[in-house]
Amino acid sequence: MVTLPFIDAHFHPLQLAYFRSAVDLKNVQDEKSLVDALEKANEPILGYHFVEYEGFSGGDVLTRYFPDVPVIVIRTCLHKLWMNAEAVKRFGEGVQIADDGSVVEEGVWTVIDKVFDSYKDVKKNIVRDMFTYLLSMGIVGGVEMGISPDDGEFMSHVAEDIGFHYFYFVKSQYDPLDCFGKQRCLGLKLFADGSLGARTAAMIDEYSDSPGEKGILNWDDEHLYMKMKQWHDAGYDISIHVIGDRALEQVMRMYRHVLAESPRPHRHRIEHLQIMYPGAIKDITDMGLYASIQPTFSPEIPWAIERVGRHRMAYGYRWKELIDSTFTLIGTDAPVYGVSPIDVIDGLINDKYWKDVNLEPASVSLGKAVDLYTAGNMRYLGLFTDLDIYRVEWDIFPIKVKKVISSGKVVYET
Ligand SMILES: [Zn+2]
Repeated sequence: MVTLPFIDAHFHPLQLAYFRSAVDLKNVQDEKSLVDALEKANEPILGYHFVEYEGFSGGDVLTRYFPDVPVIVIRTCLHKLWMNAEAVKRFGEGVQIADDGSVVEEGVWTVIDKVFDSYKDVKKNIVRDMFTYLLSMGIVGGVEMGISPDDGEFMSHVAEDIGFHYFYFVKSQYDPLDCFGKQRCLGLKLFADGSLGARTAAMIDEYSDSPGEKGILNWDDEHLYMKMKQWHDAGYDISIHVIGDRALEQVMRMYRHVLAESPRPHRHRIEHLQIMYPGAIKDITDMGLYASIQPTFSPEIPWAIERVGRHRMAYGYRWKELIDSTFTLIGTDAPVYGVSPIDVIDGLINDKYWKDVNLEPASVSLGKAVDLYTAGNMRYLGLFTDLDIYRVEWDIFPIKVKKVISSGKVVYET
């Protein structure tokens, strides 16, 4: 069997590379199993998927067993980590660290970036391994959502070496000038709100399972407008993380404002679009925005209903309606979820995610799903959808990638 290759329109390959080099701590239940797991790791010792067992004392226990090497343990939610004394000494500067060696929120990624920046050879190797792993699944390109321009260039070079089509958006603390001359930089990524899980997604009405709470808008209108205008006028693309209906309403208002002031052809995007306001799809279509969806989120539907209630789920996770009416990009958001194309296709075609909870399914046909995740995303990146130039050859029974051709060259073969 032969298909076009997959493109991931929204993921975080640098984080994916970091995690692939770390030890998985999901089975840790006590001090002994934690130490056993960490002892098997290579330096830098990094563990993830950790959940505190009873009596866990944070950095103290890590320092006791590992006095000389830096050890970092990351909580499964990615919002918290703990460091031992050696890690604090080497990577703690400029980071807010609590008495138990813990760091929260943005500090988490600051620390992890510092760790790998200090292990340059390790960083290059794990990034190359990660791209090879993507090629082995038939994924030949993708867009990194939110990175520094320096890391973006570093990733671009490693990707180019092995035939992977890598593009990136930079985080909101950078300016268009920081991207000047960097051909793989598509533009700006920013977060309008948070997540449904943490109830930080900005909702018009209060959360159904937490009266009084409506989530948080990360930007006021004025600053959001100025940031978007700066990048729009410099000719770059804008991509905005939007989960709740209130965040979507704000972002649409700002896009309308910016586009009316300086109209130009654009490829601006909205990411996730989990809970929309009624009529939003028409607005998105009318303004020619790309809807960037992550079908890997479909399994969240049962608990999303608890958060926002059935009435709002009529406008939640509506992949089919978006696909039927507007430009739609498909991504995974890995490593938040898995990067496997099988999970992406399942999240798009499997109507059980809606039917199990008595919602109108928003699934599409297998043909449509594959077409979007291959040809649709390829067109977005400007790749020719020609099987002579881009091709995945498959073994069937069991289904497995046999050979991958990218830009006319064999980039992977079993
Ligand atoms: Zn993301």
